[in-house]
Amino acid sequence: MRAIRRGDTGLAVLEIRSILVGLELLSDAAAASSVDGPGQESVFDEATETAVRAFQQSRGIGTDGIVGSETWQALDGARWKLGDRGLYHSVPDALVGEDVRALQERLLEMGYDSGRADAIYGARTARAVAQFQREVGLTPDGSCGPQTMKALRRLGRKVVGGRPQWLREAEAFRQSGPNLVGKTIVIDPGHGGGDDLGVVVPEGPLRWTEADLVFDLAARLEGRLAAAGMRVHLTRGPQPAKPMTGAQRAELANSLGADLLISLHLDGLANPEAQGVATYHYGTGNGLTSTVGERLANLVQREIVVRTGMQDCLIHAKTWELLRLTRMPAVRVDLGYLTSPVDRDRLVNPLFREQIVEAILAAVQRMYYPVENDVPTGSIDVRQLRLALSSRQS
Ligand SMILES: [Zn+2]
Repeated sequence: MRAIRRGDTGLAVLEIRSILVGLELLSDAAAASSVDGPGQESVFDEATETAVRAFQQSRGIGTDGIVGSETWQALDGARWKLGDRGLYHSVPDALVGEDVRALQERLLEMGYDSGRADAIYGARTARAVAQFQREVGLTPDGSCGPQTMKALRRLGRKVVGGRPQWLREAEAFRQSGPNLVGKTIVIDPGHGGGDDLGVVVPEGPLRWTEADLVFDLAARLEGRLAAAGMRVHLTRGPQPAKPMTGAQRAELANSLGADLLISLHLDGLANPEAQGVATYHYGTGNGLTSTVGERLANLVQREIVVRTGMQDCLIHAKTWELLRLTRMPAVRVDLGYLTSPVDRDRLVNPLFREQIVEAILAAVQRMYYPVENDVPTGSIDVRQLRLALSSRQS
């Protein structure tokens, strides 16, 4: 769809405003004021833009105040509150919405394995609903109609058991053993393909692009991880024909049965003062988080900050497609601002990029390194660690 932004008019704007009013992000008065009378089109005004930003922030979508396809999908799904409609597993077009997310979170709280709360009513959600139905004596059809909804309301509040999905994820990770040999890791260099170059900064006769720099980092990392015994896949080549969405990248990692995914990006802002590194893992604003993803994010962030001295912009929980739809612990690192003269000077230096690669490699090693043997951040000599690990296996 065409992006809808400030100054636009039309039915789509009317629709967006009415959803925002329903979410109480936009007041009714503000909605009425831009409609001059019956038949008049609604205008995407300043109040609308502010409300869109607030909505994007709450959903972990980039807060640009513009309704592109990702924001539109989230807005469309946000209309539904749990109980507004019957929910069921529909193939091939799955039901998507906030009501599905609320259902998944409730099932998770009660200890049913409905997978990640990704707001998509898939087979796993249907299985969890069926299991719940069986246990409360309803027909286990995997659909969430009025009776099931009533049972959920009745029991939902009483039974709370932590975050079983993440406990399971952590347990599965622990059982996979303290060894990265034979593990599959997907490295996702952001952007690339068509005219999606990410952040672009001209400098004299040169032109630095996020797409090229992160590809270079990914290729270096690929070599180092493969040398450490991992199976490594990149999501794209140096110059793919077409841009890839986050969902396509997630699908690829899922189909490879990857154990970990690391996505590499650079940041950019009009303000040249903005600099530093930040790492993102899956999580929602209401405390649901991937504990293994969070641990990986912490390790990656700390190793990079300690080893390179880049400014620490911390780790953050996000619900971005790539993090939400991947079935393995996944993180995205924004390795500095290409628009910052300080960060840029370092990023365009291959020796500095080598340092970043070393830091990420150390973080991945630490993921598989038993905690009792853990050593201070920044102090791992990767070769020594490899020796220690291989001597333990033999
Ligand atoms: Zn990017």
